[in-house]
Amino acid sequence: MSAALLHGPLLEQTGVFGGNALLLTGPARVGKRELALAVAAQHNCSGTRGMYGEACGVCPSCRALAAGAHPDLLLVEPRATTATGKAARRKLIPIGAVLAGRDKGREYETHVFEFLEVRPTFRRRVVVVDGAEHLGQEAANALLKLVEEPPHRGLFVFLAEDPRSVLPTIVSRSARLGVVPAPDRALERSLALGGEAPDAELIAFAAGRAGVLGAREAVRAALAGAAEFTGALERGLLTALEAAERLEKHWDPAWHPEALRFVWRACPAHERARADTALEALQAALEAYASPSLSFQVFALRVREAFGLED
Ligand SMILES: [Zn+2]
Repeated sequence: MSAALLHGPLLEQTGVFGGNALLLTGPARVGKRELALAVAAQHNCSGTRGMYGEACGVCPSCRALAAGAHPDLLLVEPRATTATGKAARRKLIPIGAVLAGRDKGREYETHVFEFLEVRPTFRRRVVVVDGAEHLGQEAANALLKLVEEPPHRGLFVFLAEDPRSVLPTIVSRSARLGVVPAPDRALERSLALGGEAPDAELIAFAAGRAGVLGAREAVRAALAGAAEFTGALERGLLTALEAAERLEKHWDPAWHPEALRFVWRACPAHERARADTALEALQAALEAYASPSLSFQVFALRVREAFGLED
């Protein structure tokens, strides 16, 4: 997806940014990660810039980035802490992400401190912290010195949905830029440039969030699954329960809840509100490790009720 097409005016600002830390904020999937990579590209590019100051796309640095193997880029993400050994409960970027010596569980392959000590291969080492709201206090404290005086002019790009949930010590040291949804036509053009056929449903679902296009196969599958499930509810109890089983099998927690709400968007508001309550109950049950097959069956029954479809 073309960052220049989607967020050109922002790239004009990031391209000439001379500080040590940027904080990009905006809704989930709006394209913050793609923008951060475009910033890393800008600050390492040796080619001719585009009209928004975007990276050339063809120099050795740009090619390394496109191949997903840029030596000067470090992406730091939260790890799901597992107190019980089961699934994820809480997301956290621990101090072990910053200092190798504190990474007892060897959770991170590369650590911020050690990464910045090494001279850049191209121009500037870039640390992208995706999920800055999950920085633990200890990790944030360890980062402060690096953010203030990064070795070899390193650049930090913090990404967060809500700046209010990021530790103030990080916010106050960063230049903040808001990433807003792109116009539909920009998403359409971006899709076309990628050689994809027009997809009005995908564009409507994306609602300007470029990150949705990057996950378009999963999104299309979730939309198809949500439509199939919702259609089956009307065709009797047994069909509904079978549909619940299929939904369970293909359930993608990242996309199915939103896909269901999208499919229900044309329903009357009071019905939608009840279906939404059922969906929230399903998600809560799954998080609490209730029996999935039972939870999905109950969900199907409750959504049938919500839409007034009981036999
Ligand atoms: Zn380049």
